[in-house]
Parts: sequence; structure tokens; C-alpha cells
Amino acid sequence: MSQTPTPITIAYGDGIGPSIMEATLKMLDAAGANIATETIEIGEKVYLSGQSNGIEASAWESLRRTKVFLKAPITTPQGGGYKSLNVSMRKALGLFANVRPCVAYSPFVRTKHPEMDLVIVRENEEDLYAGIEHRQTEEVYQCLKLITRPGCERIVRYAFEYAKQQGRKRVTCFVKDNIMKLTDGLFHSVFKEIAAEYPDIQHDSMIVDIGAARVADTPENFDVIVMPNLYGDIISDVAAQIAGSVGMAGSANIGDQCAMFEAIHGSAPDLANQDVANPSGLLHGAIQMLNHIGQSDVAEKIHHAWLVTLEEGLHTADIFKEGMSKAKLGTQAFADAVISKLGQSPKQLPAPNYSSSQPLKLPVVGHKAPSKKQLVGMDVFLQWQNGAPAELGEALAKTGRKSLSLKLITNRGVKVWPQGFEETYCVDHWRCRFMTSEDEIDFAELLALQIRLHDAGFDVIKTENLYNFDGEPGYAAVHG
Ligand code: NAD
Repeated sequence: MSQTPTPITIAYGDGIGPSIMEATLKMLDAAGANIATETIEIGEKVYLSGQSNGIEASAWESLRRTKVFLKAPITTPQGGGYKSLNVSMRKALGLFANVRPCVAYSPFVRTKHPEMDLVIVRENEEDLYAGIEHRQTEEVYQCLKLITRPGCERIVRYAFEYAKQQGRKRVTCFVKDNIMKLTDGLFHSVFKEIAAEYPDIQHDSMIVDIGAARVADTPENFDVIVMPNLYGDIISDVAAQIAGSVGMAGSANIGDQCAMFEAIHGSAPDLANQDVANPSGLLHGAIQMLNHIGQSDVAEKIHHAWLVTLEEGLHTADIFKEGMSKAKLGTQAFADAVISKLGQSPKQLPAPNYSSSQPLKLPVVGHKAPSKKQLVGMDVFLQWQNGAPAELGEALAKTGRKSLSLKLITNRGVKVWPQGFEETYCVDHWRCRFMTSEDEIDFAELLALQIRLHDAGFDVIKTENLYNFDGEPGYAAVHG
């Protein structure tokens, strides 16, 4: 261990945050963690002082200097206008990987899944969390789902490198590419490409709905699971809860330069100021942090002592079980119990070995050689409420030209012209696809079409260019 303490930024957060942070720091200190903490203010107070993202500008300075953040949970005030601090942190600091180990500690902590030991690697920056949302018409709101090739490559490679480092046998991919063929389809195809580079690690893929059901039913059959942001957000909470208690799991948010460590749970205002919360989730975040800063010996020492504490039945209220537990301890007393076990190793629960848990070094993701990109048409989105799809089709067809003609109209993605069903329920938002009959069309012709539509009285709310990339359509086919 280096002599100079590693500077880390900490935040005590809200609700149970200050209490579990105090307990965690006490355990780190007693175990000999060589860290120098700098405290920043985030969360409810900052939100209510008028800072809409819950963090003062000055706090960023500490985070960008130390590049390591141990964060207690915060309370996000109810009501509109407050931005998620976590989402802001992940994006601003480039924390692309969220790593959440979910482990059962049976028989010492009650769970229906005693063999469970899985790790969820969640993409942390993209997907529906890009925050690009618009109200487009009276009736329709839109949120853009962004999936990028470099984003997929980074998170999938991270999952395989993590599996390799931690001696895990299999990586499973969860996607919904039977529906989202381009976005989730990209995630899946990148998964298959990168999996081929790791012949010693098994791999498989599941549609996320059946995958989630199987995690809930037989989590012991999973090892490492990698998935896009939204699925990972939901499924990692389910996994942590069924492992025993939402109060037990920690999470690491990893970027190329910075990293943030936390508990997965929130500020549990119902338990604030009562000294009853379980500090283990934040402690697990701190253990991941110690590995990240090269103090794996201390990480291992604390983790072993924590397992001994569980084995001896010294439990906080959330995991206390009559007959199995020996004592129901408060937050600080639990921390003291862990401290009293430092130097011991668990007798029944597997003792982790962190000798190879250094931060993963991933190659810089390059950009692919550009494809041959051809502009072949345009989807025009209209607000229109005046009648039946056939009327719209007839009126719009007149604005087309030989080289750029109306091919179809959809409403909420379902084809309604030509030859739609009168049963299809329609809202005031119409996607009208104009395609060229040539190999390619000039962008100026698309602009001219928009002017003709405007002159004909149509309310054009948005357009989306249609391209072929190396001859492959870069747009989804239409249902119906
Ligand atoms: P929560 O995770 O705070 O609490 C849900 C329930 O889980 C609590 O009522 C409590 O009974 C139990 N619980 C949670 N942590 C526990 C612990 N350490 N020990 C024992 N029991 C524990 O979720 P919530 O009530 O939906 O959210 C409360 C606040 O936390 C909200 O303002 C929310 O926005 C915020 N939140 C913050 C984060 C974060 O900072 N990372 C994450 C999630 C929620």
C-alpha cells in the first residue's frame, strides 16, 4: 500500500445516508484503509437551495480532482424540475459501467435463492436515459432511445473482462431485439462479436422479459449478465432484493477516469435518525472502491470480518430472523461488531479473494471506417386530426413527385395507409414515409418536399432522414 493516503470525495447524503456513511467510514478506518476524505454537499438541501441537479458547482472540482467518489444515498425532492443527480454524475464523469454483485448469504440471511451469486453489468449512460424527450403533438410525447456502437462495445467488453478477471464462467446478454431490431439489435450483435474474442467464457442471450422472469425464479443459473441501461436498472433491483435485502448490495459506477461507489438503495427516509439502517450496502460499495484504489488487502479484511459478523448472527433489523439471529443491532453497533471481527475469516460462507481485483484496463474504442451512406427517403411526422387515413394519404400523395413519392403512413407505428384496418385506433401523430425510386436522392429535394407540405397546410412536426448504410436499410421496417 502506498504511504500517501488516496484522496477520495465523500458525500453523507440524506435520510439514513449520514448514519450509514459514519458507520462505513468507521469500519474503513479500523481496517487501516489509507484514504484522505473530502466531503461535498449533495442532495435534498442543495436541490431545495435552487440547484436543479442537486450538486453545487464547487463540488465538481473535488470530484474531478480525486476521481473517486463514495456516495451515500440522497433524497430527490418530489415534483417536477429536479434532475436526477445520479444520471448527471454518470454522464458528466463518463461512468459507463454499473457493476452490481447480488449474492445470497444463506443460511444466515433469509432468501428463497440460497445459491444465488450473480453480477449485473448495466450500461450506464445511454438508452432512454439520454433525456431527449419532446412533446410533439396534443396527444403524443416521445423519448429517444439512443444506443451507440462504441457504448455497446465498451460495456460488453467490460463484462467479459470482468468475468475473466473474477474467474466467472458465463456472460449472458439481455435484449429486446425481437422488437427493437436496430437499437437492441446492435447491442446483441456487438455482444456476439465480442464474445467470440473470449472462447474460454461461455456466452448466451435471452429476450429480456423471459430473462427477467428466470432471474426472479432461478437466479442461481446466472453468472454475469450484461444489458442496456433501463433493463439493468430494473433487474438489478429485483436481483438485489431477492438475494436477501435491498440494504445489502453495493454498486460501482466505473468510467475511464472516474468512479463512483454507493449502496443500491435510496435514503429510506422512514428509517432516518433511528440508528436502525443496515450500512452493508454502502460498505459493499466501499469494498469495491478499495479494490479500485489498489487497497485490496483492506477490502478483503473488511469483507471477511463482515461475513463473520453475519455468520455469528449479529444482524441489523432488516435481516434479523428469530431463531437464526443472535442479536438485533443498530447501525453503529453493527459497525462495531464488524470491527471486532477484523482479522477473522468466515467459517461457512465463501471468503472472497481480491488479489486480482485491480481496475480493468480496456482498450480505447476506435471508430469504424465509414460505411457507404445513401439518402433514400424521409419519414415526415405530422400533427393531423382531421379525418380518416385514406383522406390523409390522398392529400399527401399530391405533394410527392416521381422521384420522391409517398409509400405508406403509420399511426403509432402501425400501417394505416395504404390498406389499413378501420379497427386501428389513431391519435393525432402520423408518420408518412416518402421514398425515392432512384439509388439516392439529393437533400434539397427533401427540403423542397417539406416546403410543399407546409404550403399545402400540413403541420410538419419532425422529419427523419432515411439512409442505407452499405446497402442495408438504416431504418426499421413497418408493422402491419
Ligand atoms: P429506498 O431504497 O430508500 O427505501 C425502500 C425501503 O427499503 C425503505 O423503506 C426501507 O424499509 C428499506 N431499506 C432501504 N435501505 C435500507 C437499509 N440500508 N437498511 C434497511 N432497510 C433499508 O427507496 P425509496 O423509499 O423508494 O426512496 C427514498 C428516497 O431515496 C427517494 O427520494 C429516492 O429518490 C431516493 N433514492 C436515492 C438513490 C440514490 O441516491 N442512489 C437510489 C434510490 C432512491
